[in-house]
Amino acid sequence: MIYLKSSEEIEIMTEGGRRLAAVLRALTANVRAGMTTQDVDKMAYDLITATGDRPSFLNYKPEGAHKAYPATICISLNEVIVHGTPSPYDVIREGDLVKLDLGLIHRGFHLDAARTVGIGTVKPEAKRLIATTRKALDAGMKEALPGHTLGDVGFAIQDVAEKAGFSIAEGLTGHGVGRSLHEDPAVFNFGRRGRGDVLEEGMVIAIEPMINIGEGDIRQLKNDSYASRDGSLSAHFENTVAILKNGQRILTE
Ligand code: MG
Repeated sequence: MIYLKSSEEIEIMTEGGRRLAAVLRALTANVRAGMTTQDVDKMAYDLITATGDRPSFLNYKPEGAHKAYPATICISLNEVIVHGTPSPYDVIREGDLVKLDLGLIHRGFHLDAARTVGIGTVKPEAKRLIATTRKALDAGMKEALPGHTLGDVGFAIQDVAEKAGFSIAEGLTGHGVGRSLHEDPAVFNFGRRGRGDVLEEGMVIAIEPMINIGEGDIRQLKNDSYASRDGSLSAHFENTVAILKNGQRILTE
């Protein structure tokens, strides 16, 4: 069931999104070689709680996961696509692709967003993957308008990925977001124009292309993270977007 948000609720989510965007800007500006993924997690926790908000992911148990999530951020390196768990043993290195996926709860509403950062000098193909995934998010968000469909959003994302010669990571999707972190509808990163649910005023969705350089097949690792099956690099960008009567508002940019 899709929960439509009132304009007051969207205002609350707008403030939450502004805060989350600021946290992600601070993280992307500060993540560097030599830090552990746990260092980044601590920074994320401190930034979110400093303004009185709470991390969305901490103690969250997604469907299909083996246990509740133990950290503030999902931080996934290189071939790991999403749900990477911070660790004091994972050191970020020059050339790594780091995916920072983060949510917070502001006045009862979740916001969800992700960025991919290349550490220092990354390979040209990795740079192209990051740029393509960002472009796919922009193309998907552009379609997130009242009267358009989720198929329009998915088609736009898929089109950017495939024209670049890359693959959509299979089985991973965006989602509705609100009082729960994951609400209906599923927001697929592929689709056909004009198909799927029609977007309407009050829907708030997290659009999140996850794109692999190689094949789209994925595998679940022991810690509940997902990686590309062929070990190829993957990138991830995400924003929470509200559908308004005559347009949209990108909440987490
Ligand atoms: Mg998400």
